[in-house]
Amino acid sequence: MKRREEMTFLERIYVVEIAKGLKLTFGKLLGNLWLHVLHAIGVKTDVAAGVAIQYPNARRPYPARYRGRHRLTLKENGDIKCTSCFLCATACPARCIYIEACEHDDPSIEKFPKRYEIDTLLCIYCGYCVEACPVDAIRMDTGIHPEVYPPDPRLFIEDKETLMHRSRILEDEGPQRLYDMHMKRMQELERVIL
Ligand code: SF4
Ligand code: SF4
Repeated sequence: MKRREEMTFLERIYVVEIAKGLKLTFGKLLGNLWLHVLHAIGVKTDVAAGVAIQYPNARRPYPARYRGRHRLTLKENGDIKCTSCFLCATACPARCIYIEACEHDDPSIEKFPKRYEIDTLLCIYCGYCVEACPVDAIRMDTGIHPEVYPPDPRLFIEDKETLMHRSRILEDEGPQRLYDMHMKRMQELERVIL
């Protein structure tokens, strides 16, 4: 499609464009209001009325395959499952996984990650890392959203402990607990910011 670089005279004076925007917004508002009124008096329509979800206090149920924030899975003894093979980092199109491999004291374990970090500011939540992992050591089944506005930008980088801790909470207390913790944090941040 050819992009039009120049604005027309009517676009440059803005008034017409503002009127068009208002028409669209109020058209949607009134249409939605009308649908709600019809539904309230028991009239069925083929079109669903739009509703505002008061996130983070409320949220839509997510599909089971929703790609949430990452976690590093654990062995039965609580150790990290990751073998530092670097396949996830190689598959990552955003180049946002940093791994520092280390030899394990146990000779039966070849390597483990001394450092494992994901820069979530660069991450595009594509899930390639999960697909690439041969030992199911990384998952995105937490059901929680990416960090939106942490007080310290360094928190956008999620380290090994953070990623492992999510697995512990998920296994010990279930996904709702993980989401509750996430929501509490979001609400605290909102209180600080607003
Ligand atoms: S979800 Fe995609 S972008 Fe994010 S760490 Fe995994 S592979 Fe990289
Ligand atoms: S998470 Fe999986 S793919 Fe990535 S380094 Fe560890 S074992 Fe390899």
